[in-house]
Amino acid sequence: MTARVLIVDDIPVNLKLLETHLTAEYFVVLKANSGAEALKICANEEIDIILLDVMMPEMDGFEVCRRLKADTHTHHIPVVMVTALDQPSDRIEGLNAGADDFLTKPFDVVQLMARVKSLVRLKSLTDELRARAITKQQMDVEDTDRGMETIKIDNSRVLIIDNDMRHAQRLKEPLETIHRVDILTNPSDVIIQMAEQEYELVIISMALPEHDPLRICSQLRTLEQGRNVPIVLVADEHDRQKIIRGLELGVNDFIMRPVEVNEFVARVRTQVRRFRYAKELRQTVSNTMQLAIIDELTKLYNRRYFDRHLEIMLKKAQEQGRSMAVMMLDIDHFKQVNDSHGHEAGDNILKEFASRIQNNIRGADLPCRYGGEEFVVLMPDIDLERAQLVGERVRSAVENSSFNAGSGRKISITVSAGIALNSSNIDSPQSLLKRADIALYKAKNDGRNRVVFNAA
Ligand code: GH3
Ligand code: MG
Ligand code: MG
Repeated sequence: MTARVLIVDDIPVNLKLLETHLTAEYFVVLKANSGAEALKICANEEIDIILLDVMMPEMDGFEVCRRLKADTHTHHIPVVMVTALDQPSDRIEGLNAGADDFLTKPFDVVQLMARVKSLVRLKSLTDELRARAITKQQMDVEDTDRGMETIKIDNSRVLIIDNDMRHAQRLKEPLETIHRVDILTNPSDVIIQMAEQEYELVIISMALPEHDPLRICSQLRTLEQGRNVPIVLVADEHDRQKIIRGLELGVNDFIMRPVEVNEFVARVRTQVRRFRYAKELRQTVSNTMQLAIIDELTKLYNRRYFDRHLEIMLKKAQEQGRSMAVMMLDIDHFKQVNDSHGHEAGDNILKEFASRIQNNIRGADLPCRYGGEEFVVLMPDIDLERAQLVGERVRSAVENSSFNAGSGRKISITVSAGIALNSSNIDSPQSLLKRADIALYKAKNDGRNRVVFNAA
């Protein structure tokens, strides 16, 4: 994993030291010796992670962090605050400024690398999601691009895993004003517990006499509901080596005992916020992908998707010498339905019409709303006889029972269809569709409510 790391420190020796460690792990290192310079670099360069010294003249690290997190161009870059003093108050101020993590000087190199890698991994995931969302739909992204700090975290579901009920209660109490916290005292039940509730954070005590806390972590990561959930370890000093292994395994954060309550609350908040942010992004991406290929009214594929799919499928069929058919359908006298029952009734019928198509074609056939009251079905690996059978099945399914137009009204409609089979290698997607359209036109002219086949 390679990434661009910006290190910010006013003391050259410190920069040099960090640079040495990071370049040894093949990170690309950029350096800034003041807050102002750091902000300038972030505005002009792609940065994957920032290691930010707290104590600097003019603008301190907290202020730099606040500015980075307030700017939509930089708020997604993880910031690790580098503190000389292991002061809880520094950490709290850092977390409030939006910092993602902390390192205390002098560095534990292994821990430094583990944390940098873990944050870079997380960033590359969010980058990917951001990029996809951006190309899919600018509008939606602006909506989610409002920054992590605006994400609400109340009522989030948190699970504490701890054998010791008293310990667990002590962790639970300060969280309860914002979060909804459950306690699991038997780690063996973690799978059941995760299936029952959609947790947004799991806190695991490392002091489990009969269980390996890291095994619980990896178990969680194999579960569908646990794959993305943030995990925070509550550790003792002697757990240090294990914590590092945990971070490599995908643990998101840890806190040392004795637990400093404010820091604990702040870290939980950060994790939940980050989780909800990533989830929202994922949702946006899948929504915009859906929008791009699915017709909203009928939930069938849209024309754009169909055209693309037809092109691919036809090419494949031609390469492999297989036959394929396109059926074009158009509801008869649909304008009259709208005119006498209203547009809403028309929409209801279109929806039901779509599902009747879906229920009467084969599994491999691809149905699509081509526009208005016109539909197409792509039928791979099919011969003339079977294509006509499918067409006839759809036609009679439409004619044989009336449609629910809403408000208890029943309306009878019929449909006409034209089918074309790719009989030769000279067919293009356009010519195939054209022939299906000609057949449909003939079905209309011949009196509607029928299926007509177009021979090439
Ligand atoms: P025929 O196909 O049998 O020749 O007659 P038709 O009345 O169905 O043909 P035409 O293509 O002239 O009219 C199609 C009508 O479909 C026009 C429009 O009012 C209606 N329509 C198209 N899209 C929608 C839609 O999304 N919702 C509703 N309710 N109606 C639609
Ligand atoms: Mg029409
Ligand atoms: Mg019509």
